[in-house]
Amino acid sequence: MSDAEVTPTEPTVLRCAIPTPLRRFLDYLVPKDSTTSRFAPGQRVIAPLGNRRLTGIIVEVNPKDSFDRNKLRPLDAVLDDEPLLDERQLTLLEWTSRYYMHPPGEVFPLALSLRERRGEPPAPTGEPGFKLTLRGQGLPKGGLKRAPKQAELLSRLQQRAHSVSELERQGIQRSIMRTMASKALIEPCDIKPAQQWKSGTSLAANDEQRRTIDAISATLGGYKPHLLAGVTGSGKTEVYLQIIANCLQAAKQALVLLPEIGLTPQTVERFRQRFDAPVVVLHSGLADGERDRGWAMARNGEAAVIIGTRSAVFTPCSDLGLIVVDEEHDGTYSQQDGLRYSARDIAVMRAHLEGCPIVLGSATPSLESLQNANRGRYQLHRLTQRAVATSQPSGEIVDVRGLALTSGLSSQLIDAVHDTLNRGEQALLFLNRRGFAPSLLCHDCGWVAGCHQCDARMTVHRHPPSLCCHHCNSRSHLPQACPQCNSKRLQSSGVGTEQTEQALQRFFPERPIYRVDSDSMSGRTAMQDFRDAVANEGPAIILGTQMLSKGHDFPKVTLVGVLDADALLFNTDFRGEERFLQLITQVAGRAGRAQYPGKVMIQTHHPEHPLVLRALQTDYIENANQLLEARQRQALPPHGAIAVMRADSRSTSDGLTFLSQVTADSKRLPAVVVGPIPAAMARRAGLYRSQLIITGNSRGAVAATMQALVDKAGTLPKPAGLNWFVDIDPIETL
Ligand code: ADP
Ligand code: ZN
Ligand code: ZN
Repeated sequence: MSDAEVTPTEPTVLRCAIPTPLRRFLDYLVPKDSTTSRFAPGQRVIAPLGNRRLTGIIVEVNPKDSFDRNKLRPLDAVLDDEPLLDERQLTLLEWTSRYYMHPPGEVFPLALSLRERRGEPPAPTGEPGFKLTLRGQGLPKGGLKRAPKQAELLSRLQQRAHSVSELERQGIQRSIMRTMASKALIEPCDIKPAQQWKSGTSLAANDEQRRTIDAISATLGGYKPHLLAGVTGSGKTEVYLQIIANCLQAAKQALVLLPEIGLTPQTVERFRQRFDAPVVVLHSGLADGERDRGWAMARNGEAAVIIGTRSAVFTPCSDLGLIVVDEEHDGTYSQQDGLRYSARDIAVMRAHLEGCPIVLGSATPSLESLQNANRGRYQLHRLTQRAVATSQPSGEIVDVRGLALTSGLSSQLIDAVHDTLNRGEQALLFLNRRGFAPSLLCHDCGWVAGCHQCDARMTVHRHPPSLCCHHCNSRSHLPQACPQCNSKRLQSSGVGTEQTEQALQRFFPERPIYRVDSDSMSGRTAMQDFRDAVANEGPAIILGTQMLSKGHDFPKVTLVGVLDADALLFNTDFRGEERFLQLITQVAGRAGRAQYPGKVMIQTHHPEHPLVLRALQTDYIENANQLLEARQRQALPPHGAIAVMRADSRSTSDGLTFLSQVTADSKRLPAVVVGPIPAAMARRAGLYRSQLIITGNSRGAVAATMQALVDKAGTLPKPAGLNWFVDIDPIETL
């Protein structure tokens, strides 16, 4: 990809990424009456397609293999004088499109802010200020004598442009600025802050932290992936902060990815407090304008630290010196629709292209990253001690076989909660199922309330009373009688958080109980309000779903109870056991974080299951390495590779027929193709889901096979309403 000056004799061809589902770039001629003669990859264009006008991005000038020039249409316009994306960013986007086999026109806009995608200029950054107009520059030094305030403003702007706030501090009122602007002597401009990034005082690092900070900092300036495996509370964030400080000192930017910013505002706060430098936060909860501005600041180099969620991995940065991916094992880094990608994996490729180190941090690293560390591709750093409290929580398995549980609670667990509250401490109970009960059934005929759009049961909710499908969010009234036999004996079955909350209220009527799930935490500030309340509370019970397992600090919690470990353990996905281990380790990490020791109780029907036995006794890394060996025996990732091609269609046969046509003559492919078969949940949100599963012993073999299938699929007629896509390295094969 290189720039080119136009030679007048030959029409210039611009290859562009245009936002369409086409699986290729499109070629155009330069605009007819273009004022600029410089065309370069990374500039935006307005391109005609059919009778639509779309904002695209130039990826190549005069490609060698372009179509017949006489048949190409000219672009309407080239929008930017300077490219918005540099070569490294364009290469990353191209790689992403290729690796995930997704239409490039849908990938490239991910590196643009929303307004840039609409074809508007990048958001203004810096502070509003004033500079002289050409006319103003014509005034002599010491001019405007008869209006002393205007003369003062003139002489300041003759030195340099000033921000409005700076001028006001110097006693120049806004009315004076307005007057001179109305005479076209001065005009508004953006003032960029002087770029001198400073960092506040660090905590005194302990030995493990010091070694890690030094080792990683020593690799600043070149590509190097690091895996930071540190137990919860071991001070990983402090390690990030100190490495970033070293990065900023070299005047290079740092990009930090977090799983969920809305849930962890305190982490962002720690970054803001540490650095006397612009810290930009990018996530979906922000107003568009704020996000657009942060985007522009990252690109023009004003932002020192860019903190964002998954999609921020594409934020263009002018001079990136470090990438941090916190909680790298977290599932939210994987996008599950549209472009199905792993932000963690793209981040590693990005660090490679930018030539900077990347730190993947977690208390419970993914098996993929652990494998890379074991093979020496990533440098492994371990923090084995908690930074403040030294005690690790003690574990206890509650064998619930044959026990009468009250709304999911054993009497052992209730007693333990009781003791905890009496000591003035807090208890955290984990149940990964929201709502009142996971199903409603008829006692007389066995009818079960199912979703009319999905192959799934409806969940019973009490607030408000309704049936809700957790897969497609459809809701209906709670029936009074069985629609099949008219019996009134309908009963809910199983336990969700609403039900356990009610039981806890009966057991502990005097104690505050906080329920934390996506129903109770829907407001923008709900999570923060909850955290503040719990921090100020004495004895209290926190009950919630996996929302609780993510990086929160609950210093007063000394008891953690896992109500239904079996639900995690017997997940049919091959990553079920890994997730079980991660979740148990993460929730256990909530206990005894401050000065008090902690205790973890796990309720299970399988107390003899090796993973249950080991989850609390044995170090996570050791357990994870055992799972890795099992994966190797079963030839499952990270050994070998998997990819899925899925077709969603209005009828089962449409999808299955389409996929069998795709595989019709796929004999000599380097990987194994299984299917077509219906997905485990064959119907979801009204669509039938069929799939091909491709497995092989290398990524290359799987990719080559998938490419052949994608090429084939592209040539086939698509039945109405059918939509197919690929998922490379899927996080679920259900
Ligand atoms: P992690 O990210 O590994 O869960 P944190 O970075 O949040 O851990 O650290 C846990 C707690 O320990 C925080 O309250 C933090 O301020 C404190 N901490 C971390 N490192 C140190 C240190 N070197 N000295 C004192 N306190 C520390
Ligand atoms: Zn019935
Ligand atoms: Zn549904």
